Amino acid sequence: MKKRVLITGAAGFLGSHLCDKFILEGYEVIGMDNLITGDLKNIEHLFKNSDFEFYHHDVSKFVHVSGTLDYILHFASPASPIDYLKIPIQTLKVGSLGTHNLLGLAKEKNARILIASTSEVYGDPLVHPQTEEYYGNVNTIGPRGVYDEAKRFQESITMAYHRFHGIETRIARIFNTYGPRMRLNDGRVIPAFMGQALRGEDLTVFGDGSQTRSFCYVEDEIEGLYRLLLSDYSLPVNIGNPLEISILDFAEEIIKLTGTNQKIIFKPLPKDDPMQRQPDITKAKKILGWEPKISRAEGMKKTFDYFKSLTPEELLKSEHKDFSKHIIK
Ligand code: UDP
Repeated sequence: MKKRVLITGAAGFLGSHLCDKFILEGYEVIGMDNLITGDLKNIEHLFKNSDFEFYHHDVSKFVHVSGTLDYILHFASPASPIDYLKIPIQTLKVGSLGTHNLLGLAKEKNARILIASTSEVYGDPLVHPQTEEYYGNVNTIGPRGVYDEAKRFQESITMAYHRFHGIETRIARIFNTYGPRMRLNDGRVIPAFMGQALRGEDLTVFGDGSQTRSFCYVEDEIEGLYRLLLSDYSLPVNIGNPLEISILDFAEEIIKLTGTNQKIIFKPLPKDDPMQRQPDITKAKKILGWEPKISRAEGMKKTFDYFKSLTPEELLKSEHKDFSKHIIK
């Protein structure tokens, strides 16, 4: 008997790669998505596979799945600063009500559940690099608050279900991840820079570009998540690539990679944009025997090949959004 897994956010970036991984590993996969930020294009290749089913459903409403379930991976959520501004209530609901529904389902089915938490629980961190023990520095009422607080609540309710109901839970704190199927118009830095380079526009660096991020290639991220699900560790684990780079240096790297000779222009830094972000992955190394393997050069090349394969119409749809009008003074 094949094991059955429910993946929410299945049509999104990470969700769709997880569907591929679990199909590859011989599971029956039920993908669920309400398609507000996801795109069926990311999973259409799976529709002909008899081990894959898709439910078009919003997990903030009661979730019903017939039959047995061994695992649940909750990856439904808007996940970019532009989304938080456009759909703040849905962002709050999917992390809170959605997680509650899925924990209820896990309890009912006696399934193990892994929830997608985030480095955003650390806010604009005052500790560097961030270990799982750091409690974070989050502005509850800022533009990112809807995401950050939903994810913090998500961790709390998950631990409560674990401790009170004894269900098997896993919490992944996911750091910036990139690769094919990132949404071109989500405003995140990699699709933004790639889209700009391919359309022949200048690259927009926010602030002076001294803020840092640490980017993990999607294949590495998925392997870390898979190992965490199968581990017996129920406290949060950082899953990300510790190789840190400033956004300005990164913009220069992209110009070299794309060979497009673009200029860099500077725009105001969005409110509460974290100044430094780098995961401490000591725990993941020790508990999961995992660390990223794919270099930024290799990962970025694969990602660029993906963006290059998009049609001119798709590229135009991604007109870059300017955050400056959303800055709350
Ligand atoms: N960023 C930028 N130009 C852009 C988009 C983003 O300089 O066109 C910066 C942004 O201010 C942030 C970093 O890139 O400091 C990463 O942004 P992203 O939205 O990808 O992720 P997050 O801030 O959630 O890590």
